[in-house]
Amino acid sequence: MSSTSVSNKPLPPPTNTPVSAACIIDSLDALHWTDHADVLVVGWGAAGASAALEARAAGADVLVIDRFNGGGASALSGGVVYAGGGTAQQQQAGYADSPSAMFDYLRHETQGVVRDETLQRFCDQSVANLSWLQSHGARFGARMPKFKTSYPADGIFLYYSGNEAVPAYRGASDPAPRGHRTVSKGQSGAILYAALHDATRASGARCLTQSSVRRLVMLRTPGQPDRVVGAEVWRLPENHPKTLRHATCHRLANQWRNFWATKAEAWRREAYAIEAELARPVFIQARQSVILASGGYVFNNAMVRQHAPKYARGWKIGTAACDGSGIQLGQSVGGQADRLNNISAWRFITPPYAWPKAIVVNTKGERFCNEQVYGATLGHAMVEEQGGKAWIVLDAKLRRAAIFECLFGGLWAFQSLPALMMMLIGSVKAVSIGALAKKIGADVATLEASVQNYNAAIQEGRADELGKSSDMCEALRTGPFYALNIAINSPVFPLAILSLGGLRVNEMTGQVQDAAGQDIAGLQAAGRTAIGIASHRYVSGLSLADCIFSGRRAGKAAALFGKQS
Ligand SMILES: Cc1cc2nc3c(=O)[nH]c(=O)nc-3n(C[C@H](O)[C@H](O)[C@H](O)COP(=O)(O)OP(=O)(O)OC[C@H]3O[C@@H](n4cnc5c(N)ncnc54)[C@H](O)[C@@H]3O)c2cc1C
Repeated sequence: MSSTSVSNKPLPPPTNTPVSAACIIDSLDALHWTDHADVLVVGWGAAGASAALEARAAGADVLVIDRFNGGGASALSGGVVYAGGGTAQQQQAGYADSPSAMFDYLRHETQGVVRDETLQRFCDQSVANLSWLQSHGARFGARMPKFKTSYPADGIFLYYSGNEAVPAYRGASDPAPRGHRTVSKGQSGAILYAALHDATRASGARCLTQSSVRRLVMLRTPGQPDRVVGAEVWRLPENHPKTLRHATCHRLANQWRNFWATKAEAWRREAYAIEAELARPVFIQARQSVILASGGYVFNNAMVRQHAPKYARGWKIGTAACDGSGIQLGQSVGGQADRLNNISAWRFITPPYAWPKAIVVNTKGERFCNEQVYGATLGHAMVEEQGGKAWIVLDAKLRRAAIFECLFGGLWAFQSLPALMMMLIGSVKAVSIGALAKKIGADVATLEASVQNYNAAIQEGRADELGKSSDMCEALRTGPFYALNIAINSPVFPLAILSLGGLRVNEMTGQVQDAAGQDIAGLQAAGRTAIGIASHRYVSGLSLADCIFSGRRAGKAAALFGKQS
């Protein structure tokens, strides 16, 4: 046995960031490998499952490893997949779409985060990727909502999930709805993921759960590029009562995360403590590739503070395992991370549909963003440009309409309850706009001018100065007037955040790249561990769609690496 820097010293106790420096060996014999696979997939969310399925379909022996029991943020998600170019559901609903129209729209949203050829491929493959999901048991539907919504009600499965209907984003083609929500009752992510989970198992991929990858193993061979050849995996003992408790804590933390945040955090910590006490390391060899598909980093407070401090007061969504470990594993062998400062900040103000007809202003009282845009577009403008603070200013008529909609409009509780609480008990009220400005600390003349300009444009039939479409503009005339605090730290209206940046990858193969843009042999990344289509700005469905696209790409390429050598 020979090794250059193998250490069997115990790692520091696992916090939510248990990644350690790479283990460098100069011979495969340097370590005792307890298992081998052609392809080792780290993380069993949507990206990992897609990678595993493709690698299996190409004949590779695949081992999927997950810190918990799989699912990740994918299983907690809304299960909306961004798809277009003429899907069966779009056609059934009577909407024309084409890959080039989809490309035109997404080019505007993605701003060069991937090469144009890659984005074009994503659009060209979109119909096939949705069909692929269907072939693995996911179902999609064609019923559209009457109004723009952040998430459609049960029974409705196709919608404008981004900025498609906003004039400035429309481009040359008619807008097409591309948000394909998985058919299910309630939040659809669990059903979408269940299909991928079952398909992974049926494919013959082996799955190792309650096992974390905390270190990559790299082989140094003179005259050849360094190569990732495996991973150090920390496993909980099978059938131990605390291993069962670990699974329970994770399940409870995910179930209660929206309703009992402090208790959810306590369950997370209990799970970390069980890992610290009982997990033990083994080395598993990857003959062809290790695919990092372990999600984003928003549950890693240190990374949020370092890369996206403006978002630190946001409400992180996902699981405890969205802790950036995949990104850090890639960095530990020279992988280059990028766009880590890109956070999707969900300031959804539609529904209620009456809200975006009013105006949103900053602390001075100026409008700064078209209120009709997708929630993460507004959230980005608010956090990046306005210090995370903003107000919705409504008149009595729009407020009444919004309350009616919250009570009788068939909205989800997560949409109507915070909105009602804001309007009924959390708003600032005044008889005039000037008095309202004083109460919220805005500049009186500025807020009055904002409202007057907005009203005048509507009355005179002029275009809105921020590009809102005319059907979404309604003059604020009927007092009293109300201001709703939609700041990032609003106690009743939390602003959800998730991370978008990740490791730079070769856009043909998903291979992780180093600072010089060279592929790192034996290492790939997919989903939110990698830079992908969703890494500039997110619109609903784009992250899962990219997980499928990038996961399939990585799995196919990984299986081919074996055939080439
Ligand atoms: C509430 C909510 C709603 C959302 N709705 C949508 C939506 O409708 N459409 C959309 O496109 N996006 C949505 N998103 C975003 C989307 O769900 C995620 O960006 C996406 O699921 C990420 O998928 P992934 O496969 O990269 O990671 P994940 O699904 O998070 O999977 C990563 C897996 O890796 C495991 N893991 C992590 N670290 C390790 C390690 N070191 N070793 C072993 N295993 C590890 C985790 O346990 C996890 O199972 C939503 C997110 C949330 C939280």
